[in-house]
Amino acid sequence: MTSLALNNEDLRELYRELILDHARSPRHFGKLPDATHSAEGINPLCGDKLRMYFRIDSDNRISDACFEGSGCAISVASASLLMDTVIGLNTDDALKYFSAFVGRLTGRQDSENDDTDAGINLGKLSALEGVKEFPSRVKCATLAWHALISAIRHDVQPATTE
Ligand code: ZN
Repeated sequence: MTSLALNNEDLRELYRELILDHARSPRHFGKLPDATHSAEGINPLCGDKLRMYFRIDSDNRISDACFEGSGCAISVASASLLMDTVIGLNTDDALKYFSAFVGRLTGRQDSENDDTDAGINLGKLSALEGVKEFPSRVKCATLAWHALISAIRHDVQPATTE
């Protein structure tokens, strides 16, 4: 009998393909004309430079987001996966994903420590977890997330519905 369960090698291959797919065809790439929040993320060590745009409604929900710029495969894939993750979330939940994701990559939260305790299932973001073995790449993978936080905290213009 063969098992349908994925072994670690299969999983790594799937994750690698997911990252390459997002790096080659980033989702939500471009400008967001009616963005309410924006921030730039720069990682000089690698040369990653991304600008992130968010439209945050008066109820603190991230209703749309886009990013542009250039960077390595990891930074672009991470920004693309971030977009898929946070669009539709309120900013509090986006911050929870930030903590869970960055915590996981920087080792502040180990894999044994189930992230569901914070109500967060990293889902596709887990594809980037492999970079934690490479500290210089952790900066690439978390760049977009740090830009998200500075965008949320430093308004370019106030979010209003009227
Ligand atoms: Zn990079």
